[in-house]
Parts: sequence; C-alpha cells; structure tokens
Amino acid sequence: MSLKSKVTGLILAGGRGTRMGRVDKGLQPFRGTTLVAQVLARLAPQVASLAINANRNLPQYQALAGAAPVLPDYLDGFAGPLAGLQVGLQFCPTELLLTAPCDSPFFPLDMAERLHAALEAEDADLAMAVTMERDPEQPDAAPFRQPHPVFSLVKASVLPQLEAYLATGARRMEGFYKSLRVAEVLFDDSAAFSNINTLEDLHHHERTAAAPDRAPAAAPPGRAAGSPQGAASGAAGSRAADGDPAALAVEQAQRLICARIAPVEATETLALLAALDRVLAEDIVSPINVPAYDNSAMDGYALRGSDLPAEGATATFKSIGVAYAGHPFAQAPQAGQCVRIMTGAAIPPGCDSVLPQELAAGIDGDNVTIAHNAIRAGANLRRAGEDLKAGGIAIAKGKLLRPADLGLIASLGIGEVTVRRKLKVAFFSTGDELRSLGEKLEDGCVYDSNRYTLFGMLQRLGCEVLDMGVVRDDPQALEAALRAAAQNADAIITSGGVSEGAADHTREIMALLGDVAFWKLAMRPGRPLAFGKVQTGQDSAWLFGLPGNPVAVMVSFYMFARPALLRMMGADSQLQTMQARAAQAIRKRAGRTEYQRGIISLAEDGAPQVRLTGAQGSGILSSMTEANCIVVLRHDQGNVDAGDMVDVMLFDGLV
Ligand code: AMP
Ligand code: MG
Repeated sequence: MSLKSKVTGLILAGGRGTRMGRVDKGLQPFRGTTLVAQVLARLAPQVASLAINANRNLPQYQALAGAAPVLPDYLDGFAGPLAGLQVGLQFCPTELLLTAPCDSPFFPLDMAERLHAALEAEDADLAMAVTMERDPEQPDAAPFRQPHPVFSLVKASVLPQLEAYLATGARRMEGFYKSLRVAEVLFDDSAAFSNINTLEDLHHHERTAAAPDRAPAAAPPGRAAGSPQGAASGAAGSRAADGDPAALAVEQAQRLICARIAPVEATETLALLAALDRVLAEDIVSPINVPAYDNSAMDGYALRGSDLPAEGATATFKSIGVAYAGHPFAQAPQAGQCVRIMTGAAIPPGCDSVLPQELAAGIDGDNVTIAHNAIRAGANLRRAGEDLKAGGIAIAKGKLLRPADLGLIASLGIGEVTVRRKLKVAFFSTGDELRSLGEKLEDGCVYDSNRYTLFGMLQRLGCEVLDMGVVRDDPQALEAALRAAAQNADAIITSGGVSEGAADHTREIMALLGDVAFWKLAMRPGRPLAFGKVQTGQDSAWLFGLPGNPVAVMVSFYMFARPALLRMMGADSQLQTMQARAAQAIRKRAGRTEYQRGIISLAEDGAPQVRLTGAQGSGILSSMTEANCIVVLRHDQGNVDAGDMVDVMLFDGLV
C-alpha cells in the first residue's frame, strides 16, 4: 500500500491571526492566490484525503476545500493548534495525519515521506520536522535546534491521549508531545519551514517572487488529493527567480521519483557472453572453491617449509620432478628434496612453500641451494578457496555485469545467467520548430538534436529503445504519441514543452493522460521536469518530461531519468563523483544545484584539476562535447575560489 493512501492532510487555519491584526491569515492574498490555497496545493499530492481546520470565514474556506471538510474547533476560544489537531484526528479516515499550518506555503513536497521514514524507523507516535537555525543577531554563535511541531505526521490512534491531555486544561503542543514517542526529522532547508506571521512577512515574500502566476489548483480534493498536479502548480506557483523556496531541490526530486519506481519483475536466462551490461536477477553462488586447489604463485621450487635452513645456514635440495599447470606431480618429496614447479601448477603433496627460482642461492643441475632468509615457510602459495569459497555468494543480484563479472562467473564453470529483461523506453522530441535530419531548415527552425543525445544515452544504459521521432505541438498528435508509447514501453522520455512558458500543449496532454507532476527544480541547467505515470487502458508507463534545451536534456536525463531507469532495471544506481581542484574561480548561487561542463586534467603536481568549458548556456551543446566531466556544485554551496576542491562526475569510466 502506498504511503499516500495511509495519510490524511490537515491544514491548521484556526488561529486568531493576532500578529496580523486579527485578519484571517489563510485567506490573505499571496502570489496570485491565497496562502491556504498554496498550502493546499503542496499538501494534496502527499495525502489521500484532506481537511481544513478553520474557525472563521468558513464559506470561503469551503469554497477552496471543495469536497473536503472544513472543521471548526470543538473547544471554545481559539484554543490553538492542539484544538485543530483534535478535530483533525476525530475526522481522520486514515491511519496517519499530516499537519501543516496555513501560513507556511514552502514546505517540502516529500515531507510526508521523510516524516514517515522516521516514524517507522523509530517506532514513534509522531514525527516532527526540525531545522537548525542561526540567530541573525549573533551569526557566529552555534546554530540551535528549532522544532516545528505544527509540521508533523501523527498516528490517528493517539486521539485518546490527546483528549486526556486536553481534559486537564493544558493546551500546549510541546506539553502534549512530551507524552508521546516523538521522532525528530532534521530538514536541511530551514527556509522551507518559514512561516508568514506578519503583514510585513507577507509583503516580503510576495516581493521575493516575480509576477504572480496562475492560481494553484485548489480544485475539489477528490481531484487535487489524487493528483500531484495540485502540487505542481503550487510548487510552480510563482515564476520566481532561482532560489525560490518553492523550487524543489534535486535530491528531493530524486527521492520522490525513486520512491515511486520499482524494478521490472520479468527475467530471462542468457548465455554468459550475451549477458554483458545486463542486470543480474539472482545471486551467483559459487559451486566450487576458486582456486580449486593450492597452487604456485611463481615459477620455482616447491618444498616443505620445515626443511628450510636455520638462521645463518644454507641448505641444498634435490629436485625430484616437475609440476606443470594442468599436470600435477603426485609424489611427495622427502626431507632434502623439492619439486620444480610452474606458476599455477598444483602444489605437490606435503609441500607448503615455493622458492621463486630467482631467489635460489645456486642451481647446479638438480641441486638447488637456498640461503636461510630467501623465503618464509608458506610463501608464494595461492590457497584453495582464497578467491571464492564453495557455497558463497560470488556476485549479488542487482549487479550490472561488467567484463570482470563475466570472467568471474566463467571461473566458476557457470555458462548461463538469469538477468532482468531489458527495459523498453520510448522517446520523442516535441516542438513545431524541430526539423529532422534530411529536412530543409526553414527560418526559425532547428534540427532535432535531442533525439540523438537521448538515443545515445538510452543505448548506453542498455535499454531497448523505441525512437518516435518528432511530435508536433499539436494536442492530438501528442496524445496519440503518449498513448502509443504507454502501450509499448516501460518508460517514456520526452524533451521540450514542460516549462511554464512553453506555448504548446505538452503539459496539458501529459496531465490529461496521467498522474503527472510538473516540477520546478532548484537546479541549473534543467529547471522544469515532468514526472509521473501515463495510463492508457490497461497499459501504463513512467513518463520523464525533460526540458527542451539540449544541455538541460542531458543533465536532467543523467540526474533523474538514468537513476530511475536503472532502478527499474533492478540495478544499483549510484553515480560516482570524485574531487578535483578548481583551476579557476566559479560563480555559484547557493540554493540550487548547478551542473557545469568541465575539463579535467592532471596539474603539474599530478593532482586532478578541472576548468570549465566556455559558455555554459543550457542550449550550448558544444560545451558538452568539449567537456569530459560535469562539475557538480551542490545546493548549499556558494562561489568557488580557484584552488577549492569541487565534485566532478566523469563522462567516461574505465569499465
Ligand atoms: P521548450 O522546453 O519546448 O520550450 O524548448 C526549449 C528550447 O529548447 C527551445 O529553444 C527549443 O527550440 C529547444 N529544443 C527543444 N527541443 C529540441 C530538440 N529536440 N532539439 C534541439 N533543440 C530543442
Ligand atoms: Mg517546445
């Protein structure tokens, strides 16, 4: 059962609004809609049902809430958030209740998920958001812990405890929480929990956003609650500058995608040579010891360690035969005897040490002289099972099979492996301005390059690709393409048409055919992203609506589609980064992740250093071909000085 289906959302809008001059906070106009509508739009996609706790202006709240109930306090006199929690828990039709106040429209879109993880892990009654804050008056003082009790996920079963607490006359959230098992969840983005307490706050936040945008979907909750679109327009509620707290951090988007996607079930059994780059579906268990017998690591002489000469002495051994790889020598040497042995040959019975031939003090025909310090007993042997023990897991399932894996499996005598079936991925480009190769390039048109980069990236991932070419910005053509793709593929990758300004129908049609969220991400390049499930009849496919700009397509593919596709393939998906010294200063704004194209090389001191390719615009594809890595500048990071260490992701790995 999905988490969402277990959670009811409760918006706490029942306060008196004292600090705003007793106005009803939730109904304050904000970014083209109202505060509560913005909160609703962020909460809706995380929950199965919703309620609003309000004590005034109930018709206005009801108009926003659609079919969801608006619940006034049961206790008299604006008794505070616990009174709201009480009616919320009384109403709650699911096992969990997620609360958010009406004056905080920036909270994370994965809040339910992250609170839930802690609730489960700590077997708690309630999970609460916590951030670390600094005192603006004392910026050098240590940060302090700031709990946010109104952002919590609580088990509906605590209602009797709450009623007992309220019956004592107590009203403080903190006091009630003391009677519960509380899991605290540290969120690193404190701006996401900032609330709007005063009219000055409101105006400040209004100004930090650019022109107001469409109203978020405060649609009837039946629809809003079931679909992330509400959040999409809420998250994208302003066409704000980067650094807008409503933009979703890259890691959050990755987590949200990952949480929804599961590996394909089907497997197939292949001959070993056909299994390169496929994902192992079952553990490879070693049927034998590798190596299967003790053997020599060197060309030399096998002997008994107990016969080696004492301190200061030498000893002479007589060679009684030769052991070759594949041709064991079966006779055990006696005291003073040895066996000439080649690398990989089985150690003759009774022997436990090998003298490499170049360490002999003298060789005269069959007589070999050894000094006391030439080797120690036990030297130069490869022991049976030292690589792999019979019955042990040689390679765990989920491994993307690389050349070394094929070799290892062969070394076990295994000729066939069970792998996950290949993923089918359909892709197409959208845009009336796109021309395919071979067509005439009229004024205002561009050749479709995304088709080729997407083809390459999908092919490299080992997917079965379904190239659907260019689809015009025409609703019928887009709908037909998405339906066909959903029927034939596990995943659909599109490029273009997902930004808010896009003068085309892509978003509309995607939303129509599925449960698709349109995110605005705190990243550069690649701000818009659509993700969700497209359904047609019995068939469905995961949709990744990537931006149109050629560099943005690649970066968003690598950051979002690739890990998700690998997960569907049943494979481990970590992208490896390494550190390199920045050869130049790099401008970077904190509050978004930036992916800059870089060239990594070795500096004079032999350490890796990275410089940027020239222009970094998201349409400048030459910056990608020139680059051999991406410099990853993390969300919180600011400007980089020359000489600072930065994270880089190499384009080419050795394996
Ligand atoms: P869009 O997101 O559709 O507004 O597109 C953003 C920019 O990317 C526009 O300049 C488009 O012309 C360009 N673009 C979109 N798709 C492609 C493509 N397949 N190949 C090259 N450029 C594209
Ligand atoms: Mg377009």
